[in-house]
Amino acid sequence: MTRPSPQRVHTRATRSTESDPLQDELRFMKGVGPRRAAELERAGLRTADDLLHRFPIRFEDRSRLRRSTELRPGEAAAVCGEVVSAGLRRTRRRGFTLFEMLLRDDAGMFRVIWMNQPFLQDVFSPGQRVALYGKVEWRDPGGLRLTNPQYELTDGEGDDDGMHTGRIVPVYERIGSLTTKPLRRLVHDVLQRLPPALDDPLPVALRRRHALPGRREALTASHFPATETSLELLNTFRSPAQTRLILEELFLFQLGLGLRRQAHAEKQKSHAIRVDDTIRRAALAVLPFRLTPDQKTALRTIVDDMRRPRPMNRLLQGDVGCGKTIVALLAALVVMENGLQVAFMAPTELLAEQHYLSIGRLLAGSRFRVTSLTGGAGAKTRRETVTAIETGAADLVVGTHALVQRDVRFRALGLAIIDEQHRFGVLQRATLREKGRQPDVLVMTATPIPRTLALTSYGDLDVSVIRDLPPGRRLVKTKLEPESRRDAVYEFVRRRLREGRQAYVVYPLIEESAKTDLKAATTMAEALAELFPASTVGLLHGRMKPVDRGAVMRGFAAGEVHLLVATTVVEVGVDVPNASIMVIEHAERFGLAQLHQLRGRVGRGLHQSYCRLLYQRPLSEMARARLKAVSGSTDGFDIAEQDLQLRGPGEMLGTRQSGVPTLRVADLIRDHDLMETARREAFAVLRDASIETSVLARVDATWTERFGLAGIG
Ligand code: ADP
Ligand code: MG
Repeated sequence: MTRPSPQRVHTRATRSTESDPLQDELRFMKGVGPRRAAELERAGLRTADDLLHRFPIRFEDRSRLRRSTELRPGEAAAVCGEVVSAGLRRTRRRGFTLFEMLLRDDAGMFRVIWMNQPFLQDVFSPGQRVALYGKVEWRDPGGLRLTNPQYELTDGEGDDDGMHTGRIVPVYERIGSLTTKPLRRLVHDVLQRLPPALDDPLPVALRRRHALPGRREALTASHFPATETSLELLNTFRSPAQTRLILEELFLFQLGLGLRRQAHAEKQKSHAIRVDDTIRRAALAVLPFRLTPDQKTALRTIVDDMRRPRPMNRLLQGDVGCGKTIVALLAALVVMENGLQVAFMAPTELLAEQHYLSIGRLLAGSRFRVTSLTGGAGAKTRRETVTAIETGAADLVVGTHALVQRDVRFRALGLAIIDEQHRFGVLQRATLREKGRQPDVLVMTATPIPRTLALTSYGDLDVSVIRDLPPGRRLVKTKLEPESRRDAVYEFVRRRLREGRQAYVVYPLIEESAKTDLKAATTMAEALAELFPASTVGLLHGRMKPVDRGAVMRGFAAGEVHLLVATTVVEVGVDVPNASIMVIEHAERFGLAQLHQLRGRVGRGLHQSYCRLLYQRPLSEMARARLKAVSGSTDGFDIAEQDLQLRGPGEMLGTRQSGVPTLRVADLIRDHDLMETARREAFAVLRDASIETSVLARVDATWTERFGLAGIG
């Protein structure tokens, strides 16, 4: 291996494992017997590298040990001493224990108290040396004491290298029988064995720019920081050493993403898209309204993308109801005018049916044939549809995941549109792309993606955002209502229905109790039919046959059904502008994004819309936070940020498959600012022509394995 030069990028994984000291196995380390090795392995720690990337949960400043005579009430202090006596003290209160210890240091004696920790009897005995860190209190009677401190026995193993006291010490989460102290010892030993310098994947220029330490130094200081390091920085994972390790990880991640984008940019479509005035006119002819400025911009960008020789790879992002569908449809028209086919994929059958109906309506006057392919279709219908797709008799196919099945072959697929991406596996995205020879791909999502996540899960896509809403829209007025207000809520709904509006009443459907919930929804529909004698009540749920569902949906869209009781099948895509009231039952059971999506079903027409969130007590803290967030904001981006805070990125996007990288050091929420830096730096490196492509190829090869993102793009 050549020496690292400023302009050369390489990763640890490019070295053979024998020569990489970080790959040394923990089971061969001093003090690690078979039992400990097994415990470590169970915790996912096999190599030195694994161990060094398991960081302390916090740091304690034991660098300035206080002498017993220097203790002041109210402060937190580190002290060391020898146990003089220790034991349980009787108390009058039943079930309450006090463990008291007397300690001596070279200045004098002091008392330590632990409440309700009787097991300490088995920990301490006279003569031991102990390090303590905790709160100093003054009690009358009793005097000065340390209350409930963190403790550590410091004798036995000796402390020659000052590992446990006299410095800022790392505190580790326990692994099996390994408590913080033996872990500290092990980490220390592992660090000692490392050579003075390690291969460094960060370009030197970058390190200089951000004043970052080298890799070896950073690993050491992330566990055993120098005494002058700020404890606050350490405990917020922002010391220079920690920052460096975060940046390294994010930099490599972004470098990999960038490489994928580059590879993609080199691909060539097998077809060309032309746009002339005739095509423009034909497309605009189907448009029932004027596009908003953001819609126009998005459409222009998409069409520009499609005219290029490389395949489009774009994410169209916009809050519920902002009008993404029409933009996609206009793009579809351009493609069809060029004699190519379009696949329009939705995550649920209901949504596919909806799109099929509305697209069919819009294209009724055109020469293009729209067909649908869903899982629910009968064998004969399905065969006919598949043939129509294969021969090119079908120009636009709307469907669910049924579209990506093996027997579906397009004659000339020019554009794949994927709606509501967050419900869609990344693998399916990839499979659909294989259906055509490099078709353009447009992914649409109504889940506004916080920027941090956009830089990861969708980091390989170009992004267009629609922020404005169609004219005349009014914000949905949202209110939380406890169960006791049910009658008042019904009365409110009744008044709106009398004014000619329509309403949704949504029931949660939870997997485990799907049956009982379904029953609740059915019973509710019957009860509501009695309570609202002047209105027609419909019921919609996922277990209905597609024909029945279609009938109910059409009835609601036509205004014949006034009140629609539904399970969450209406969450995405349903579009009935006259429906202006949404009542959500058991709102406390829904996720934040889901509540926002549901609410997005109203507020689509010119009427003031309302959302009533009926909840039942007791509310968990999380549920309360969610309800507060959704009633406090109608801005999807804002809500998505809060959702991210509440749930974390993995939860938010569903699974690993949805493209949240597996990170060891960085934290997508805590480190979003560093993600921006990493991206800037990585892309600058990629633009730099002097980078060896073979080196970059190696980054690419290890990338998938490293970040667990197989199948993306
Ligand atoms: P989403 O982005 O959630 O998929 P849709 O595409 O379903 O939103 O659009 C929501 C509603 O707004 C539809 O009824 C659509 O016809 C309407 N709409 C979209 N764009 C406009 C516009 N520029 N002017 C008026 N209505 C629009
Ligand atoms: Mg939509």
